[in-house]
Amino acid sequence: MDVTDALAIVTGAASGLGNATARLLAEAGARLALVDLSAESMTDLARETGALTLACDVADGPASEAAFARILAERGRPRLLVNCAGIAPGARIVEKDGPGSLAEFERIVRVNLVGTYNWLRLAAAAMVENAPDAEGERGVIVNTASVAAYEGQIGQAAYAASKGGVASLTLPAARELARHGIRVAAIAPGLFGTPMVEAMTQDVQDRVFDIIPFPKRAGRPHEFAQMVASIIANPMVNGAVFRLDAGLRMQA
Ligand code: NAD
Repeated sequence: MDVTDALAIVTGAASGLGNATARLLAEAGARLALVDLSAESMTDLARETGALTLACDVADGPASEAAFARILAERGRPRLLVNCAGIAPGARIVEKDGPGSLAEFERIVRVNLVGTYNWLRLAAAAMVENAPDAEGERGVIVNTASVAAYEGQIGQAAYAASKGGVASLTLPAARELARHGIRVAAIAPGLFGTPMVEAMTQDVQDRVFDIIPFPKRAGRPHEFAQMVASIIANPMVNGAVFRLDAGLRMQA
């Protein structure tokens, strides 16, 4: 799909991978509607790109519906959705004094998995009304999974489960939305240099670093954004989950 003048919704746009993606799409000529927890966190990006900003918890149904209605009213229907909002706190199954927190498991799954599904369903329902482009496309949706879906580390059971869910919903969503000319794909990043990773304990960062073959460095956010742009541009991409991880694998 040609992004020129297309309206792109990016969730988690205030920081890290979502921020880099919003910038790259704006440079490519897209119009933006940016979603994150606070509007202030997106002020600079909005000023630079002319984006509409919406403060919203992506997993909150009514709040997201209200935010989405504002996007439709003020900017029209989206042709692109990039689901980047997410959280990655460590959560242990067993703590010193008993079982780990069920509320924390639910919070992580809610933001990462329910939030992704929530914005996918809202965007898809609007995209079906778009006029098809020359390729017959009415929309492209890119989800953000994680290699944790396959290579989850100690303390990542909740995060890995939430991202496994994101990876798993991508193919059935692509199949279901195909007849409307909407493509759906996902990226499973390895280790990228963003505030999310900087917030992880050095121990977790080191464990992940150890199992990266090459290049032995954190990914740069614009390298993620380039992958999003490739998926959007390439009509043959559909239903796939792409590992963007410098070959990160658990060692035998
Ligand atoms: P980040 O913390 O820098 O950015 C995440 C953004 O999401 C923040 O601006 C945050 O405010 C927003 N957000 C969090 N919860 C939200 C909610 N409920 N509603 C709306 N916005 C919310 O993190 P990042 O590294 O840029 O991560 C972006 C995505 O990539 C996440 O889904 C993350 O799980 C995934 N990911 C990141 C890495 C990595 O190495 N950085 C690896 C694999 C997957």
